[in-house]
Amino acid sequence: MRTSLTNSINGYVICSQCQSEFESGTTDAGTIQEYSRLDVGFTDIGLQVWCRRHEINVCHIDFEGNELETDFRCLLEYSDN
Ligand SMILES: [Zn+2]
Repeated sequence: MRTSLTNSINGYVICSQCQSEFESGTTDAGTIQEYSRLDVGFTDIGLQVWCRRHEINVCHIDFEGNELETDFRCLLEYSDN
């Protein structure tokens, strides 16, 4: 089931510097996701992805003043154990 509440990512946002270092094989990370240290947050104009490792902008989406529909709910699995 794919909804806005399940992982629907089909294109990861990756810091180009992190990607270069990971692909050079000089890191001990198993995946680029493990190596990445990204902060994601709202800004005055939209939403920014920031690389904590390199202290650089990765992606900054300008909402151009639009209020976009956003879902902050999450699905949690419960167990009876
Ligand atoms: Zn980086």
